[in-house]
Amino acid sequence: MIEVKVSHGELSIVATVSDFCSSMGYCEFKIPFALKGIKPPPTEATVEGAKAHQRQEQFEKEHFEMVSVTNEQLADLKKDVEFAYESINTRLIVPLSLPQYPNANMSIFGRADKVYRSQGTLIVEESKFPFNPTKYLQTFEPYPDHKLQTLLYLNSLFANENSLDSKNWFEIPHQQKAWIINVKDRKTGETIKTFKGLQTKDLEQYMKGNLQRFAQIAAGQTQPQHHQRQAKCAKCRLENCQHNLCH
Ligand code: SF4
Repeated sequence: MIEVKVSHGELSIVATVSDFCSSMGYCEFKIPFALKGIKPPPTEATVEGAKAHQRQEQFEKEHFEMVSVTNEQLADLKKDVEFAYESINTRLIVPLSLPQYPNANMSIFGRADKVYRSQGTLIVEESKFPFNPTKYLQTFEPYPDHKLQTLLYLNSLFANENSLDSKNWFEIPHQQKAWIINVKDRKTGETIKTFKGLQTKDLEQYMKGNLQRFAQIAAGQTQPQHHQRQAKCAKCRLENCQHNLCH
């Protein structure tokens, strides 16, 4: 979902993490489609991946006793805290200065797989269950959409409920931020490859640059740029895209 509204002369953009990442990490032309409410049908890989996530959540419920994190524990940087799998919603609020709209803002909502703080480091850990996980064995960097996803979560506020009321959102104090992306076998749940790292200044700039560009395209102030990769269009399930390189 991507929505752009102008109210009392102020522009606001609301998007989900998944729409943001599939646009900025895969194809910017998805933005005008999402603004019209057009999304590609879910792929078999997406459906199977969702089932694998449910199995992972169930496994944690059956094998670990997760306790609620108190405000005192959250505030104490020396305390390690951990939230149950897929129990944390994320809310990233981005102030924007766009031509004509100097006080615009953007909200990006999502739900992280796993959020915890260990030895003062805030960590967001995501699991991916691709059809062909072995192809990741030859890669040394995660895909841009996966990396952007973890960066968005790391820089968000958090909510236990799916609440849009900012009074229910909270921070997790930390000294540094780290991201982990586990590529897993969807049948066995076994981790095949792990990408991980700290959030550096360069990564922060990378995320901010993508946020600004996304907002400009959504607001109609910048045109999407084509990736010029036929293979991407071949895998894309958006119908009637006049920019499809396979037509
Ligand atoms: S068909 Fe190609 S250009 Fe069109 S949205 Fe999909 S990936 Fe982008």
